Amino acid sequence: MTINPACIAARHVLAGMRDRLRGDALLQLAISGCIEVERSGFPEQAMYEAASHCEGCVPCQAWAGALLDELFPERVVQRQHVARYCCQSMFDTVTCRDARVRFSFERFRNEDPCWCINGEYVFANYCPWCGTRLPCQAFEADFPPPSV
Ligand SMILES: [Zn+2]
Ligand SMILES: [Zn+2]
Repeated sequence: MTINPACIAARHVLAGMRDRLRGDALLQLAISGCIEVERSGFPEQAMYEAASHCEGCVPCQAWAGALLDELFPERVVQRQHVARYCCQSMFDTVTCRDARVRFSFERFRNEDPCWCINGEYVFANYCPWCGTRLPCQAFEADFPPPSV
């Protein structure tokens, strides 16, 4: 399997910018294909070209993702948590204490499994975001840690 020379060039530029990547959220989003690359956001020509290349190149986005995982190991941990939930929205609503709608798993009268919404025992059966049937237990036994 040969790699496209344009890919090699883009990856070379990005690999040389590890330090820059660490603190530059815009660049991180651009090379993961999450946002459109705009000329004005990238003063240097080389970086602009590398970022624009990633925008349209799936293998390079995957490569950039691996580079970001290396720079930010917490991304990997976070992904492992998210993977245990039916979808990202459910993960957010269960784990974010400030979420407007909060889902939590409780045992009604210490017995019946129950999904609560905002602390009320509503016995929710399905995820409102992706439609998956909710499990009869918490998605993760010990995460999020119980509030103090
Ligand atoms: Zn590429
Ligand atoms: Zn869901």
